[in-house]
Amino acid sequence: MKRRDILKGLTILPLSTGLVSKASAIGLTNTPPTPKKQERDLFKELGVTPVINASVTMTFLSGSLMLPEVLEAINSTSHDFANMYELQDKVGAKIAEMLHVESAMVTSGAACAILLSTAAAITGTDHEKIKLLPNLPGPRPEVIMQKSHRYLFDQAVTTTGAKIIEVEGNDEMDKAFNERTVMALFFNAAGKHSVTHEDFVGIAKKHNIPTLLDAAADVPPVENLFKYQKIGFDLVTFSGGKMIRGPQSAGLLFGRKDLITAARLNHSPNEAPIGRPMKVNKEEMFGMYAALKAYLERDHKKEWQDWLDRAKHIGTQLEAVRSVKTETVVDPGPANAFPSLKVTWDESKIKIKPEQVVAALKNGTPSIVANGGKDHLTVGVVLLRPDQVDIVAGRVKSILQQAV
Ligand SMILES: *Cc1c(COP(=O)(O)O)cnc(C)c1O
Repeated sequence: MKRRDILKGLTILPLSTGLVSKASAIGLTNTPPTPKKQERDLFKELGVTPVINASVTMTFLSGSLMLPEVLEAINSTSHDFANMYELQDKVGAKIAEMLHVESAMVTSGAACAILLSTAAAITGTDHEKIKLLPNLPGPRPEVIMQKSHRYLFDQAVTTTGAKIIEVEGNDEMDKAFNERTVMALFFNAAGKHSVTHEDFVGIAKKHNIPTLLDAAADVPPVENLFKYQKIGFDLVTFSGGKMIRGPQSAGLLFGRKDLITAARLNHSPNEAPIGRPMKVNKEEMFGMYAALKAYLERDHKKEWQDWLDRAKHIGTQLEAVRSVKTETVVDPGPANAFPSLKVTWDESKIKIKPEQVVAALKNGTPSIVANGGKDHLTVGVVLLRPDQVDIVAGRVKSILQQAV
């Protein structure tokens, strides 16, 4: 090995030292990898602005930062071919074992999981139906949802040709089942449930119709990965690229074996079905497995404490500015249920509105995405790299100071 190559190899090592040193003083761990010194900067090469995410996981902001374990899985598996049926078998079996369910698969995100679940509920293992979907002859299959659960992602249901039947309350739900009903979908993070989780499962079971629960953004807490199959949902989906920090375009679908088998028949690598355009690649499958494993093995208590420490650390710096008050707030969830820092100030003393701070953060260098309410600024802490904690604190502080 040439000396230059050895040195190149060494630049991988400071991953957990170097840039992290400042933040490690306040005990931050389990963080996404800090960038290595690279010879090639593709952000620069293409003129793409790197963004610091002081908000929550959002698809348009590239979801999450993959864990080092995921990047390692991607890199270490990219050198050999694999049979994708076998890979999905083996990865699915491991994930099912980890989540205490019969069966599991990696999908291209939770939205794909909703589509594949619906497709599975419609076709079962009938190859003729799988080939025809979404153009099955006859009346449209029906999926039952609570009125208050209608949301943007239910388009993934109707993409299969199914129609959504809205219900409110147990009685209406019970009466909505007929020979066209194929599935009942529960949006876990909906603002209101007119039918409880338990009743929803109970009523659907009485009619022998499978249930799917969409919990895409609903970890932490980690317990949620086990909670809903215990209640009795036949299928559950989580995004891979949110707080589980797997590949952004991966997701988990797990539950009943017959339904996962049917969902897989509707998916790539099969050539014709409706899910074929929603391919998951080999590295993403290994990566999703590695992400889930790392997520389950993590010290969640410690991670939570780290988030609180971050918020406090930023808050202390900001409160040095006249009239600034900060408070650590925890979103009640079930989506995005983690701490962030709420920042308020006296606008007669600091003459800037929260939305103007948000704009200044976004338009500055580096670009920082935070959220503003009418009377407060929210600084998210859970998606920051360790070295970004002080950058964010410093930038917010200087913007507020300049407005004094
Ligand atoms: C993010 C999200 C989805 C979509 O998940 P992807 O993994 O991005 O496909 C679906 N449902 C809910 C409630 C979500 O929050």
